Amino acid sequence: MYCIDELKKEFGDGITGYFANPNIHPYDEFMRRKGSARRACEIKGIPLIINETYSFGPWASFPEQSVYSNRCEMCYTIRAELAAKKAAETDHGYFTSTLFISPYQDHELMKNVFEKAGRRFGVEFLYRDFRGGFREGQLQARESGLYRQKYCGCIKSLIGE
Ligand code: SF4
Repeated sequence: MYCIDELKKEFGDGITGYFANPNIHPYDEFMRRKGSARRACEIKGIPLIINETYSFGPWASFPEQSVYSNRCEMCYTIRAELAAKKAAETDHGYFTSTLFISPYQDHELMKNVFEKAGRRFGVEFLYRDFRGGFREGQLQARESGLYRQKYCGCIKSLIGE
């Protein structure tokens, strides 16, 4: 919710939400997060596009032979590419991610991954460090009665690996 507030200051009504979280485990959790995204966008008055793809299988184990250094880089890449592709398809000039509000993610790695995805799909990646609004975002979500996640998302993060 904080990210939407910040982007609205810059872009007014020209922003669109995009939900794409294929590796959230289990499916109930995917549904809860999707519901929260929908509600947050309704509250803030912005449209939301939902990607219904759900495919947690590849996340149970990280492939031994991988082009990625770890599973989070793979995860960032999939999300960045989905978002960049959707932004290009829907004629948005920029794209970014709510991941950049998290103090638990690797910002430098995410930045590189998102910039690369932007180049691949011909849409500019907008880097914003939303971390200063992490607590405010949590507070807004609590006050609005939104579900708040208890772990990052994939099956590995659920079991604490
Ligand atoms: S820990 Fe989080 S960022 Fe890393 S792979 Fe799992 S869901 Fe993705």
